[in-house]
Amino acid sequence: MDHVFPTYARFPFEPVTATGVTITDDQGKDYLDFTSGIGVCNLGYQNAEIQAAVTDQLGKIWHISNLYENHLQEAVAELLVGKEDKLVFFANSGTEANEAALKLARKATGKTKVLSFNHSFHGRTYGSMSMTGNAHIQEGFAPLVPDISFADYNDPASLDAITPDLAAVILEVIQGEGGVIVGDPDWLRDVQAKCQATDTLFIIDEVQTGIGRTGFKFAYEGVGLDPDIVTSAKGLANGLPVGAMIGKSKLGKAFGPGTHGSTFAGNPLTMASAQAVLKQLTPEFLEQVRTKAFKIGQTLAKFEALPVVTSVSGRGLMIGIHLTDDLPVNDVITALQAKGILTLSAVGNTLRLLPPLVMSVEDLESGLTTIYDELVAHTN
Ligand SMILES: *Cc1c(COP(=O)(O)O)cnc(C)c1O
Repeated sequence: MDHVFPTYARFPFEPVTATGVTITDDQGKDYLDFTSGIGVCNLGYQNAEIQAAVTDQLGKIWHISNLYENHLQEAVAELLVGKEDKLVFFANSGTEANEAALKLARKATGKTKVLSFNHSFHGRTYGSMSMTGNAHIQEGFAPLVPDISFADYNDPASLDAITPDLAAVILEVIQGEGGVIVGDPDWLRDVQAKCQATDTLFIIDEVQTGIGRTGFKFAYEGVGLDPDIVTSAKGLANGLPVGAMIGKSKLGKAFGPGTHGSTFAGNPLTMASAQAVLKQLTPEFLEQVRTKAFKIGQTLAKFEALPVVTSVSGRGLMIGIHLTDDLPVNDVITALQAKGILTLSAVGNTLRLLPPLVMSVEDLESGLTTIYDELVAHTN
């Protein structure tokens, strides 16, 4: 690719079609997908309900501005909040959802400081990048948004940094890009309690962990948390660009007419897709995800005995296989591509797996066996 900025290190093949959990490239080679387009196509490719909803909407109207009523936005918002007393702001991506959360937190509290965590990832725009705990991502872009500080994830000492002068604390329940680092449930509850005690808004970034990925609509439900603001994107419309910021209704008065907005956000096409996604995210479906995760648990545990593996982490179908430094994760990813499996990496030489949630236990087991055999081949 000669006419595109070289911001991405691309693998030298192009996926051109996909159905179910299988992707086909421009040479006609098939791959079992353990990426979901980085946690996006959670319901697989050419999901019948989503195809039908989007095709139907294509024939009606693609885009209306936010100057008008939009019943699909209302329907998606209702599916997102359920019975809770919450409101939704739609955006086009995860970074924008976090940007909205940062703006809302400052405006609603009248405070400016935000605490984030090392190894977090919240996006690439100025606000979300400034809240991202990865120096490599911020390098060369200073000055960043001021008044944002960082503490260590899962560290009880970090609770001391949650003080009444904070507008918000933002975190992921499982740090995704940062290496599939699972938040300790007790620590997460302590963070929430300290936020409540200090009048600090508690923001949970569910861009990667949400929409069924861990077997819950949002991963925080599995830990019993009650965040003030939640952000979602990636899997929300199964591949059409959409983000959402969900906040407690009491925050609504800080986001009145004209305070924030976006031209494309929440347009009928993306909302038709999001609605079809959320309708399929039933309690039965989420239970199936948890059951699948349980069933592959034994196979995953076997990985920990491999000399090239230091540990395995994750929840639901969000999995991190942590490799020793002498086996670069990209070598494994490339070798697996040759064997017809697509996988991802994360910080810390982590092999990250985000298969579509609709993948059968048989396909999950077969893919994991190929990955296991590949890691055995790299031993010694
Ligand atoms: C991917 C991701 C983002 C950024 O989402 P974009 O849609 O790429 O802007 C933010 N937070 C988390 C946790 C993510 O995984």
